[in-house]
Amino acid sequence: MKTVGYAAQSSESPLAPFNFVRRVLRSNDVAMEVLYCGVCHSDLHTAHNDWGWTTYPIVPGHEIVGRVTAIGSDVTRYKLGDTVAVGCMVDSCQTCDQCHKGEEQLCREGNTGTYCGLDRITQEPTQGGYSKHLVVREEFVLRVPETLDLAKVAPLLCAGITTYSPLRTWNVVPGSRVGVIGLGGLGHMAVKLAAGMGAKVTVLSRSKDKTADALALGAEQLLVSADIDAMDKAQSSFDLIIDTVPVKHDLNPYVPLLDVDGTLVIVGQVGPMEEQNTVSMLLGRRRIAGSPIGGIRETQEMLDFCAQKNILPDCEMIHMDQINEAFERMERSDVRYRFVIDMASLPVPDTLVV
Ligand code: NAP
Ligand code: ZN
Repeated sequence: MKTVGYAAQSSESPLAPFNFVRRVLRSNDVAMEVLYCGVCHSDLHTAHNDWGWTTYPIVPGHEIVGRVTAIGSDVTRYKLGDTVAVGCMVDSCQTCDQCHKGEEQLCREGNTGTYCGLDRITQEPTQGGYSKHLVVREEFVLRVPETLDLAKVAPLLCAGITTYSPLRTWNVVPGSRVGVIGLGGLGHMAVKLAAGMGAKVTVLSRSKDKTADALALGAEQLLVSADIDAMDKAQSSFDLIIDTVPVKHDLNPYVPLLDVDGTLVIVGQVGPMEEQNTVSMLLGRRRIAGSPIGGIRETQEMLDFCAQKNILPDCEMIHMDQINEAFERMERSDVRYRFVIDMASLPVPDTLVV
């Protein structure tokens, strides 16, 4: 199937229109027209090759909402016209212990990324949701609850699940004391989801500029991470801290904020961090952990939780041709709090019209 998207051709080039082909439907495949796609900081990292593993051309986008346009002969869960969603993975081995547990993100063979992955059958590069059409095997397609505002659902597929999963893994319950470092796309979802679970939430930000936003999102307070007095007073006062900062940074000021047996979970920076002093970890029996997205079962659970609690991201809708400006603004943290591309804004070239 011919389609069109926006791709980067190299780490320096801006995203631009790109015609490419989606695979012919396999018996277990669902084809969809993409309606909305969220803009994750990982899209920017990947387009710029910050992690060193990008292959070009690359069509980013892994916060995808679409409408089913065709199904393979063995598909049973979806029918034409269904509203569906796809997140950061499109395949996994389906046979290892992690896949059997529904933790496909931790597949022993590695999951197949929605973009920048390799199709497990043809070895062709996978391409993401900044495109008109998508083909994904049924097992990696999510059902969007009908009550949710479709235009705002997309960011739940990465920012939502990446913060929901550690909140569940570390057993956040009503009254849990949760800190969130960095109030961006992931951070603002962490605040909404943790508050939705009944936690007492504190935002840790670089300045006090986002204080009113933090409170409106459901936090009880915002702590400025450079305010040494305030950070001192907050020692031993968190059960869980979720760290969404997208670059190398220093955890030494944050670890003492954890109470005994508390955990700081890194979901942001992928790569080296500043040197860590272990004193506060040993003396307080505190932990530093990491967490990647979440499994398909848990992603569906998160979507249903959001529908039940009416939790949705704060979105700024953009057109496809505004993506390069959106990347620049995200790099400056000038987004409140997630860009979402309205894919109707991507014209279909005459060559694709049958
Ligand atoms: P984002 O919207 O740009 O938000 C990041 C926030 O971090 C900013 O709003 C800012 O908050 C803070 N920040 C930015 N630059 C900083 C700096 N130089 N020093 C300290 N704080 C800084 O990004 P996002 O989409 O939430 O993604 C965050 C990170 O998570 C990215 O690295 C992304 O690749 C990663 N990610 C990981 C997973 C996973 O599976 N673990 C999934 C998705 C994304 P303040 O202004 O409040 O300080
Ligand atoms: Zn993402």
